[in-house]
Amino acid sequence: MITSRTMPEELRILILEDNPADAELTQRELEKAGLSFVASVVATRWEFHQQLDAFDPDLILSDYKLPGFDGISAMRIAVAERPEIPFIFVTGEMGEERAIDTLKEGATDYVLKQRLARLVPAVERALAEVEEKSQRRRAEENYRTVFETTGTAMCVLVEDSVVLSANQGFKRLLGYAAGEPEPEVRFKQVVSRGGPEVEDFDRYHRKVLSEGGRDPVFFETRVVHRDGRTLDVLASMGRLPGTRNSVLSLIDVTREKKYEGELKERAERLRDFLTVASHEIRHPITVIKGYTEMLGDGDIKIPEDMVPDIYASMNDAADRLTRIVTELMDVSRIEDTGVELDMTSCETKELVLEAAADEHGARAARHVEVEVLSDPGQVMVDRARFMFVLEQLLDNADKYSPEGSPVSVTLEAGPDGPLISVLDRGPGIPESDRERVFERFYQVEDALHHSKPGMGLGLYIVRQVVDAHGGRIWCEPREGGGSAFRFSIPK
Ligand code: ADP
Repeated sequence: MITSRTMPEELRILILEDNPADAELTQRELEKAGLSFVASVVATRWEFHQQLDAFDPDLILSDYKLPGFDGISAMRIAVAERPEIPFIFVTGEMGEERAIDTLKEGATDYVLKQRLARLVPAVERALAEVEEKSQRRRAEENYRTVFETTGTAMCVLVEDSVVLSANQGFKRLLGYAAGEPEPEVRFKQVVSRGGPEVEDFDRYHRKVLSEGGRDPVFFETRVVHRDGRTLDVLASMGRLPGTRNSVLSLIDVTREKKYEGELKERAERLRDFLTVASHEIRHPITVIKGYTEMLGDGDIKIPEDMVPDIYASMNDAADRLTRIVTELMDVSRIEDTGVELDMTSCETKELVLEAAADEHGARAARHVEVEVLSDPGQVMVDRARFMFVLEQLLDNADKYSPEGSPVSVTLEAGPDGPLISVLDRGPGIPESDRERVFERFYQVEDALHHSKPGMGLGLYIVRQVVDAHGGRIWCEPREGGGSAFRFSIPK
């Protein structure tokens, strides 16, 4: 086991020496230099082996030739079992070549007994090396801990974008199990599979490698999670000094990106809404203002037969303004307190027939057919709000259908309570908009092509009312063309 150790206060020296006088001389030399140490002198293989463990030395000084044992074998044992302990030969005879061989095999140094003055500098150098190595190891351990425990996903890439090692954060981000080995993962496979991001990634990787990578590059890209999801990430890549490897870190910004997209869309929608709403309000005001000016102008003689038309136009304009204000107030109330319901038991068929009959006359020119497929009987609803839902759907069917085309309502006892469908032969709603038309301010036509009155609030309010009843509303394409708006309310 490798342990890190700092320079000990009192050095523990294991001396392998069969000649007590030589062992004494060695120790004296060290004492002379003021080194504080304890020594254990051994002469046999068994003692050496045993003390290597029990005495736990910081340094080994070994003779080369011993009766029944030898320094080379001792060195091999020490190198195999305790490679961190410096091993210095202190020997009377050793040819140059042999000395070099021992150094190659792992000995730290050798000192000839006849030149014992070299012993202390050799010991000091060996211990300094040990200290330096252990400091380096500690620093590496610290960096590894930082690498492993940082919340940021990080990996080291070799030149052709193979992941050499990845931290827990990286594995977590991409869906690999903590203990799973990763060296074979090719990073290009986890960048958006073959998409344009791979080119992006390659470009940045080349830049990092070619520019020496002193400064990291930052870029946005996308990676594919193991489960197939695409993640938006902020990447930074820098070169590891002295290598062709680079370190890559990724921060998952998928949620932020989505949120940013939503905010942008909302802002755009709000802008569209303001354009549409100001247009919607200006139009009836222009009508009213025009006629009041005309009526107030004493010089203009208004023919008697025009008065009913003028009255009807002004009345329509005022109704339109009232409707706009009511919608806006409804939305503001819903956003504030939700939909409050005043529930009563009602006969479903009666409500449907009443709405279709159109007492207010706004759809007077349109015949609405009611078909009762099966009578659902009574239902608990807020009567006024339920009527609002039906009327809103019928108004839309009327508004978006060509003149003369039929609108019908079907009523049936559905599995979840009464199921009511409002069917038209209008232009229908593209699939991508079928859910969105129930969102606040949403209109299929954009603000520039706004051709029908309305502010994209009707279906939003309708859905809130149906939801408050615990029901469901959706839109389907109608067979043969047109739309089918269906809703069901639990009994
Ligand atoms: P608006 O007041 O703009 O009509 P709604 O919320 O009632 O707002 O409807 C949202 C959008 O859904 C409309 O702008 C229109 O594009 C589309 N839409 C609603 N009903 C129909 C329908 N019956 N046929 C075709 N499009 C419709």
